[in-house]
Amino acid sequence: MKRIILLGPPGAGKGTQADILCQNQQIPHISTGDILRGAIAHETALGKKAKTFMDKGHLVPDDLIIDLIHERLGEDDCENGFLLDGFPRTVEQAEALDTLLESMDAKLTNVIDIEVPDNVIIERIKSRAEEGSGRADDNEEVAAKRLKVYWEQTAPVSHYYESKGLLQKIDGLGTVEEVTQRINSVM
Ligand code: AMP
Repeated sequence: MKRIILLGPPGAGKGTQADILCQNQQIPHISTGDILRGAIAHETALGKKAKTFMDKGHLVPDDLIIDLIHERLGEDDCENGFLLDGFPRTVEQAEALDTLLESMDAKLTNVIDIEVPDNVIIERIKSRAEEGSGRADDNEEVAAKRLKVYWEQTAPVSHYYESKGLLQKIDGLGTVEEVTQRINSVM
């Protein structure tokens, strides 16, 4: 059974690789970004709170995200494993996840960090914005902000797992298939 975290900067291809991994492993793909966009679409209280942060490229406050994950990991489909995409985004979230997993008597099996250089990320996000991905936060200005937030708040999450000896670094350059192969080789 796999309990996987997928880390990496915005535009690293986490979503694509997450879909492939989840299909192979038969586990639910839990994307906090997708859950939040769903909440915004349904105009829930969470969605209304989250929207103002997301539109600016800022992180949604930890307490909202931790509650959301607590609820999601308690659902039946997570009993045989799960993949987290876009969470944890701060060291506080990583610590809260540790506490939550301990209470579930569960352990992470893989923490995969997809590494892509900044200049490549900026190009990828720009072309995604130009193609009109349909995501409100995919414009150049917000993308640059998200990258800054990543380096300031999320990159430390990789160090957190590295210091626990859990981090598996994967080269994110190349084709989707090449990156998938590298991930499969550490599973
Ligand atoms: P994503 O689809 O993962 O790139 O997330 C899109 C946006 O949702 C981010 O820029 C944040 O504003 C918000 N978000 C998603 N996941 C988290 C999280 N774990 N913590 C805080 N904010 C998040």
